[in-house]
Amino acid sequence: MKWILFLGALIGLSCGREKFFGDQVFRINVRNGDEISKLSQLVNSDNFKLDVWKAPSTFSRLVDVLVPSVSLQPVKSFLKSQGLEYSVTIGDLQALLDHEDEEMQHNEGQERSGNNFNYGAYHSLEAIYHEMDSIAGDFPDLASRVKIGHSFENRSMYVLKFGTAEGGRRPAVWLNAGIHSREWISVATAIWTARKIASDYGKDPTITSILEKMDIFLLPVANPDGYVYTQSQNRLWRKTRSIYPRSRCVGTDPNRNWNASFAGEGASDNPCSEIYHGPHANSEVEVKSVVDFIQEHGNFKCFIDLHSYSQLLMYPYGYTVKKAPDADELDKVARRAAKALASLSGTTYQVGPTCTTVYPASGSSVDWAYDNGIKYAFTFELRDTGHYGFLLPANQIIPTAEETWLGLKTIMEHVRDNLY
Ligand SMILES: [Zn+2]
Repeated sequence: MKWILFLGALIGLSCGREKFFGDQVFRINVRNGDEISKLSQLVNSDNFKLDVWKAPSTFSRLVDVLVPSVSLQPVKSFLKSQGLEYSVTIGDLQALLDHEDEEMQHNEGQERSGNNFNYGAYHSLEAIYHEMDSIAGDFPDLASRVKIGHSFENRSMYVLKFGTAEGGRRPAVWLNAGIHSREWISVATAIWTARKIASDYGKDPTITSILEKMDIFLLPVANPDGYVYTQSQNRLWRKTRSIYPRSRCVGTDPNRNWNASFAGEGASDNPCSEIYHGPHANSEVEVKSVVDFIQEHGNFKCFIDLHSYSQLLMYPYGYTVKKAPDADELDKVARRAAKALASLSGTTYQVGPTCTTVYPASGSSVDWAYDNGIKYAFTFELRDTGHYGFLLPANQIIPTAEETWLGLKTIMEHVRDNLY
């Protein structure tokens, strides 16, 4: 009987998930506009089924692309014929995924027997929600778990609220993570940060003074359906799981769905695209839930969205090359935050406005926040720069979270001292 259960668990956990046998990640060096257009030709061809992990930016001419095994030879031939330089960054994608899966299962077993939450491991949605409850239970005077809505597939969306005053609408900070479901490090960093805020209050003068003036709301899993899907079906799923009539593909990019130059540059109207903006602004109930909550609250001063990967710290705008009115101040704060972050273990971040730092992106969360009066709006692209990409090993969770915390604190200190 035990064996049957064991086998059942194995089948249930890993058989349903999409396999990437023989798939590789290429890093392609595009040296000029001509090479960029050659590469877009390759990427936009439906025949090769490529998935761009990292597009070129002002700081890096390197593009990371997932190449399915069936496309390896034709893609190599194309690159060679066009004179494009490339290297293989991930030679055995499935091996990385298997390793990650094994680590997670091993950790789940250990957590079950020890009844603890290991912050150096990746977790299921259920485990994260349970830990949010534990944090609220451990610090009842500071933290509470608040339901702000539900996902397309009807999963609850929870935030942790940290606040030291009864009632009232104090100035507040919004910390967002996991809007792109495959960016697991953002979720893991967020839940670590939640525990850190709670346990350092009253001990660390900086976070204590921040919480004396402001509340913090932290949403660790902004796209719960996508997150569950990355663990049950396809580790590399990015979008929501919404379905619309007459659409042949599932999901919308929830970071193109906000009402900020919606359907503008850097978003696609093709429902099968990874950057599909959805049928209309706020069509995604996950986005709408956050928008409604923030608008009803009405006193948010800071909005920070955690993504991965590339090690960038960016501020508005994403939808235009035009300079944001507060760009100089935001740039200064971001540079200070990046410096604080780097002080821990030397991790370097590039800083700049989204549109000119990476690429145009309309309908993004931070642009929406900024255009709705939340001046201190920032996007983090966490570790790494592409060695593991979205598959950052679990042993980098705590180092990533610890350094990011220094950056977050720097930003929140500035907000605390410059309330408007
Ligand atoms: Zn992202």
